[in-house]
Amino acid sequence: MSNSVFRNYIAGEWVEGPSSIANISPSDLSDVIGHYAQADAAQTQAAITAAAQGQLEWEKSGLEQRYAVLMAIGDELITRKDELGKLLAREEGKTVAEGVGETYRSGQFFHYYAAEVLRQMGETADSVRPGVEIETRREPVGVVGIITPWNFPTATGAWKIAPALAFGNAVVWKPANQVPASAWALTEIISRQQLPAGTFNLVMGPGAEVGDVLINSRGINALTFTGSLETGRKVAMATAGNLIKCQLEMGSKNALVVLDDADLDNAVECAVGGAYGGTGQKCTASSRLIVTEGIHDRFVAAVIERMKKLVVGNPLKEGVHIGAVADARQMESNLKYLALAKAEGGNLVYGGNVITAETEGYYMQPALFTETTNDMTINREEAFAPIACVIKVKDYAEALATLNDTNFGLTGGICTESLKYATDFKRNAKTGCVMVNLPTAGTDYHVPFGGRKDSSFGPREQGTYAKEFYTVVKTTYIRA
Ligand code: NAD
Repeated sequence: MSNSVFRNYIAGEWVEGPSSIANISPSDLSDVIGHYAQADAAQTQAAITAAAQGQLEWEKSGLEQRYAVLMAIGDELITRKDELGKLLAREEGKTVAEGVGETYRSGQFFHYYAAEVLRQMGETADSVRPGVEIETRREPVGVVGIITPWNFPTATGAWKIAPALAFGNAVVWKPANQVPASAWALTEIISRQQLPAGTFNLVMGPGAEVGDVLINSRGINALTFTGSLETGRKVAMATAGNLIKCQLEMGSKNALVVLDDADLDNAVECAVGGAYGGTGQKCTASSRLIVTEGIHDRFVAAVIERMKKLVVGNPLKEGVHIGAVADARQMESNLKYLALAKAEGGNLVYGGNVITAETEGYYMQPALFTETTNDMTINREEAFAPIACVIKVKDYAEALATLNDTNFGLTGGICTESLKYATDFKRNAKTGCVMVNLPTAGTDYHVPFGGRKDSSFGPREQGTYAKEFYTVVKTTYIRA
């Protein structure tokens, strides 16, 4: 293998793999971003073994060392946000603005968990037995396996790696094979920090091989996964078989409710931003737009007018709002769902065309369907595409029931000026996150994130809640 291959990082060393893949930009098929090593089962196993060693040392590191490491990673991500954001945009297809924003946000995750390092408090209690005292403290869970998807390659890695390291764990990270460059760049930053060898490992490669070893390994103490429902189920079954702690963030079929009394301009911005931002490839995207009768026609007309202003094209170009679809497979799936929505009786009122840009890539105009019903496949399955479907309903009660009538439950939104409906919605939407007069996509970094039903499994991610997954509690009884 030539020196130009970006290598895996195992036991503190850059390691060649038995094979490599070319990382080709979905927005310009002539742009080869680089060649990336592919680990095999043996290398993945070596990374797990190294992590177990590294973790023992890292757990003993002082709090200030951990704080400094996390701060330095965060600082560098933020300082290099333009360069790394552009790289992310090149390999994933999102716009440069989105790539830069994601890189900046990733830096914020490291800063947040740097501060959490210094907030690790335990609790004390008196025993029911006289003369005995009790203390509870949190300890590292051990070796954390991290498996991430392609749509937020840096941020998803960051919101898992940062708390893992903050709480004294070692990491074996397997990013999605569509986006190795962003993962490699973050690893390169981490490799320059004061971490014991083996504390952090990057194993790039296919899910069926590298991922499979991770989820079936008894050397992993906790496995955190973000990706599709189908893979999530495999992760849950494999880890449960070995009694390994697991956390899953998966797909969704989020809805935005628009009531008659909504501020129309804001509702349109929420719908368009939430449905089509990131080319619709967000687990928080609002692919269902549930709209009451009184505002339906005005809303649809205004959304179409707004969609006409969306510029689809090469994400590296200024002024482009919607970049490329992530890869050929996703594009094929998008077109399949588009055809299915039509076949099921949806009325395509705007978009859906395959677009030819200056560069050859996977470009698709955002699509809007009306006259859809909640039982259509397009409203049941996650398409992960820039396709939104309007479902017309009679009133608020029907809107809420429709929103909740899904197997998923990540985010749910409502646009209304009514305190009564907003309050009721906040309480009764069966989703992990609720947005009032805001798009369903777009969350903060210091509060919990996660869903219900098929969207999530296990403890919440992010904010202070992350410690549930990344630590284990120890209860100590002391008779002095
Ligand atoms: P995916 O499930 O195909 O892949 C996710 C990761 O799992 C990749 O790294 C992949 O290589 C790995 N993998 C695949 N097969 C595996 C196996 N058998 N064993 C172990 N690992 C395996 O998902 P994707 O297409 O990369 O990502 C899109 C999905 O991610 C969507 O469903 C989206 O909703 C979801 N997502 C969820 C969130 C969230 O926080 N809820 C955030 C982003 C994306």
